[in-house]
Amino acid sequence: MSEDTKAAKDAEKMEKIVSLCKRRGFIFQSAEIYGGLNGCWDYGPLGVELKRNLKDYWWRKNVRERDDVVGLDGSILTHQEALKSSGHVGGFSDPMVDCRTCKSRFRADQVCESKCPEKPSKNPEENGCDLTEPRDFNLMFETKMGASSDDGSIAYLRPETAQSIFVQFKNVCDQTGERVKMPFGIAQIGKAFRNEINPRNFTFRSREFEQMEIEYFCRAEDGLELTDYWLEERLKFYESIGIPREKLHVLDVPDGERGHYSSKTYDIEYEFPFGIQELEGVAYRTDYDLKAHSEGVGKPQEYVDQAAGEKFIPHVVEPSAGCDRTILALICEAYEEEVITNDKGKQETRVVMRFDPKMAPIKCAIFPLLKNKPELVAKSKEVLDLLRPFMNVTYDETGAVGRRYRRGDEAGTPFSVTVDFDTIGENGPENEGTVTLRERDSMEQIRIPITDLVAHLLPLIQ
Ligand code: ATP
Repeated sequence: MSEDTKAAKDAEKMEKIVSLCKRRGFIFQSAEIYGGLNGCWDYGPLGVELKRNLKDYWWRKNVRERDDVVGLDGSILTHQEALKSSGHVGGFSDPMVDCRTCKSRFRADQVCESKCPEKPSKNPEENGCDLTEPRDFNLMFETKMGASSDDGSIAYLRPETAQSIFVQFKNVCDQTGERVKMPFGIAQIGKAFRNEINPRNFTFRSREFEQMEIEYFCRAEDGLELTDYWLEERLKFYESIGIPREKLHVLDVPDGERGHYSSKTYDIEYEFPFGIQELEGVAYRTDYDLKAHSEGVGKPQEYVDQAAGEKFIPHVVEPSAGCDRTILALICEAYEEEVITNDKGKQETRVVMRFDPKMAPIKCAIFPLLKNKPELVAKSKEVLDLLRPFMNVTYDETGAVGRRYRRGDEAGTPFSVTVDFDTIGENGPENEGTVTLRERDSMEQIRIPITDLVAHLLPLIQ
């Protein structure tokens, strides 16, 4: 396939994904009825389940199933002094250029990937736009707290979840006593805000987004080795949620391109249809942040090792993942169009979202074979109630069963159960109390007793 054909196919795939996300209720543009709020997105009924599954699984793997990581949920509104100490107030900016002709604004380091609004087939450089010299544009959202509006009332929406972890470092150490022994981590999932110059590529670059971060505190001599350890852990995590290793790329970020605080950073990138782009950064932040806050408050933010009788400011390794970017990667990875032969022997295309069952928004759909047969409906509702405490299920009685399967395939539902005449004993006692269970990817069906459903499904969806 030529480069141009591939680019056109990728762009077409992305358009289909965006439209499926809207049609099926994964992701909507924020305030769409008012013309949309640029860089902001809302997750619909399927999207919110997918996102919750990802966050829950991340929390389970990185906090609950580890002895060395505890959690935190910090406030979004952030003390201005904390962000002055961290360097964000003076330094968290991207270089910006304006076009003097069409008045558009671009990120100076991304001009060649941007489109000129006057001639969308060209980027501003090819189009000979009249660009200004780059200027720094601070990415933080500023707000005022309380009734007064002097400079002292300025607060910021946090630009990363990390800073609240550093600011609470001492409290966590003091409160959790025995549990936290160096090395150990503090994890957080939460919203972050950046006034991005050009939000784009669907949810990829948003102004409001969620991060899943761990600050893993350690001794200076272990920093580099732990950076490699976390890189491997995170790659395994992506594989375990259905993103194959061969679609992930690791960029060892060269000197001069890393954050000012970092002496080693790996970017984990994914092959999105719009290019290979960053999913997560694994950064060795040294002792930069805790030192900066120690200076800011005039007290050392240090770790006390009672047993060894020593005190020191630890170093930190930070795996920082974007929740929304991972969701987008899961959606892009899951999307597939497959030509199949239907019941009537005709070829048709089915769109199937091949989510890993752990991530799938709905785990099992329950169908009565016919909706106008009360016994089938009643039995289906019984099956629904049986599964409901264990997994997210849905009930669908509209249209032919084949069409219901297609709807489930598009939502990425890995299993569906059909309650038929055998189930209710109308064809004799032999299959009474059994249902058909269909698997989304193989489309294979088995007959299984209702009483075995929970035990059969649970290991497949966890
Ligand atoms: P980029 O270079 O793409 O702007 P970054 O290197 O500034 O990202 P970090 O500060 O390392 O990003 O943030 C950690 C993670 O947070 C990123 O890997 C990404 O997954 C997520 N993230 C950062 N900015 C955004 C954004 N504007 N929209 C969605 N997710 C984001």
